Amino acid sequence: MKIICIGRNYADHAKEMKSELPTEPIFFFKPDLAILRGHKFYIPDFTNDLHYEVELVIKINRVGKHIDEKFAHKYYNQIGLGIDFTARDIQQECKAKGLPWEKAKAFENSAVLSKQFIDKSDLNMENIQFSLSKNDKVVQAGTSSDMIFTFDKIIAYISQFVTLKIGDLIYTGTPKGVGPVKIGDELNGFIGDKSMFKIEVR
Ligand code: MG
Repeated sequence: MKIICIGRNYADHAKEMKSELPTEPIFFFKPDLAILRGHKFYIPDFTNDLHYEVELVIKINRVGKHIDEKFAHKYYNQIGLGIDFTARDIQQECKAKGLPWEKAKAFENSAVLSKQFIDKSDLNMENIQFSLSKNDKVVQAGTSSDMIFTFDKIIAYISQFVTLKIGDLIYTGTPKGVGPVKIGDELNGFIGDKSMFKIEVR
């Protein structure tokens, strides 16, 4: 199983990062052991600026390569929610030096994933509302309608480079409002009103 993450897929987040809007999807990988087990997240000691990024997650349910965008919807039927934890200080260093982001993005436990996934048929796919609360205050709220690249476009694009396999996860980018966590914070992720995960930061 592999985890693929899309960067800068929401214009308002690209703006807050002072990044240019992409003309094609930007992607990177996390290893399978990035998935956080349990509900406690321990801030790694190599960063002083650990950020949450809440994201809708596609779960691939069919093997495919060179998938045509018009058939991409056949390769997933459920949506989950996750956090792409990011060591922002390290990411900025990597960006400044033109280095890869793995140190900042692909570390162990850096991917929160909801246990539950919701069937596409139970969602308005063009307008999936999702949010993240930190200590009961909403810090990020987004909708799939604001994605620069749709789920189908992302699948078509990535599958030009790597075969997508059953169980692969695609984190589809974060809206604005990313920010730091500290020990003692509680993070709650929602699709609509439905609680998808609850994480304690340690
Ligand atoms: Mg992200």
